[in-house]
Amino acid sequence: MSGDIFANYINGEWLEGSATIRNISPANIQDVLGDYAQADAGQIEQALDAAIAGQLEWQRSGLEQRYQVLTAIGDELIARKAELGEQLAREEGKTLAEGMGEVYRSGQFFHYYAAEVLRQMGETADSVRPGVEIETRREPVGVVGIITPWNFPMATAAWKIAPALAFGNAVVFKPANAVPASAWSLTEIIARQGLPAGTFNLVMGSGATVGDALIHSNKIDALSFTGSVETGRKVACATAANFVRCQLEMGSKNALIVLDDADLDLAVDCALNGAFFGTGQKCTASSRLIVTAGMHDRFVAALVERMGQLKVGYPLREGTQIGAVIDGKQLEQNLRYIEQAKADGAVLACGGERIEEEYEGFYMRPALFVETRNDMQINRDEVFGPIACVIKVADYEEALATLNDTDFGLTAGIMTQSLKYASDFKRRAKTGCVMVNLPTAGTDYHVPFGGRKNSSFGPREQGTYAREFYTVVKTTYIRA
Ligand code: NAD
Repeated sequence: MSGDIFANYINGEWLEGSATIRNISPANIQDVLGDYAQADAGQIEQALDAAIAGQLEWQRSGLEQRYQVLTAIGDELIARKAELGEQLAREEGKTLAEGMGEVYRSGQFFHYYAAEVLRQMGETADSVRPGVEIETRREPVGVVGIITPWNFPMATAAWKIAPALAFGNAVVFKPANAVPASAWSLTEIIARQGLPAGTFNLVMGSGATVGDALIHSNKIDALSFTGSVETGRKVACATAANFVRCQLEMGSKNALIVLDDADLDLAVDCALNGAFFGTGQKCTASSRLIVTAGMHDRFVAALVERMGQLKVGYPLREGTQIGAVIDGKQLEQNLRYIEQAKADGAVLACGGERIEEEYEGFYMRPALFVETRNDMQINRDEVFGPIACVIKVADYEEALATLNDTDFGLTAGIMTQSLKYASDFKRRAKTGCVMVNLPTAGTDYHVPFGGRKNSSFGPREQGTYAREFYTVVKTTYIRA
């Protein structure tokens, strides 16, 4: 921080930009988290040039140095999970427990990739030519641009930055303007680890300015993006023009199937968790609940009852289960979708209204629609709010066909006690992640994450699969 402004971090220095934005809590609009610098065009170039130089030095750093840097970042995130989790809850609106869990998980990403630093093995092969040997090894891809959304401001940054640094790359990081505090705090921790200047850079600002400059730059070697489909398409086009490698994680319209033989209590738990926790602002949220006829009425009655007991409100209050919506614009959009769904013939079973809190912020009760069809707009678009729709179907085959009838393909879930249906579902759901008797949201940090169709593009994130994106393979021929 320089003066009263939380500055950008470029080439090892804290630099104010040409302007600032005020970071206001969506849970209490009187709560100001601070003023955050916006990088100007010259600073973005400065960060990119610094990253090119810093990367060469970082690539030469010893494996143990990288291991220690990543371990230290992970240790500090975990040790400070209460403080940083509270800041995250204030700036994003999710509950304190969710905020703390996210910071803890972010620390785990750094620990996982610290260990991965020490697992850098290549391969050898005999040549088809006598006297020649071959080896393949992985090298850093170079300078990586990282662009993140607002809904998991710490975790999304961590699961990209940790592998980028672990494999010897430099980073230019642009967080979403709605949530600069989490990004700044993570940067402040990284800045104290003695990395070569320029290895890690934070450039805050809007998508239209800083984001646009990054994706069009030919000074980056790779661009990892998480956000909406609309922006993802721009990223893919811009990076392709420069043959820059890109990885996109985008929206979804996930479904949870509930079959007649499901454990009802478990099905309701999973639906509540997947559809509404995190205020439904998750790319893995179950916004479509596809229920077979024999289970439908019991499931809807039990879910409506449990939704009535949900504690919605100020995220820092003990016991709150559902916090605030990210901002006024998103809240209005959620309410517009609710009106549109009603106009299209969906029946609102409960919730869906804006609510007042002790603190002025953006709150609504989670909404459940019944009697919906999969072709209604509410079941086609990613709403990104606490709104779920029940679609009644005759049997498993219709449920599966309905689930796959979408432009997206990130996660899918099924609630059943039948091994036959669970096994079939695992193979035929056209998504990147499949859950059996679990919520569609909630994934581990040591295995690949990503989707199909409009949900993802490029190599998978997380686990050992992240190596595909953050490294390039070199094949060496040696005559002895
Ligand atoms: P968004 O696309 O509006 O913004 C994402 C990021 O891109 C932000 O940092 C933004 O400033 C930047 N950006 C915007 N316009 C840009 C441009 N023209 N050029 C370059 N960068 C630009 O998305 P959002 O509203 O912040 O996030 C919500 C979306 O993110 C949802 O669609 C959600 O599903 C998705 N998401 C996906 C995953 C996943 O892993 N699949 C995870 C979390 C969120």
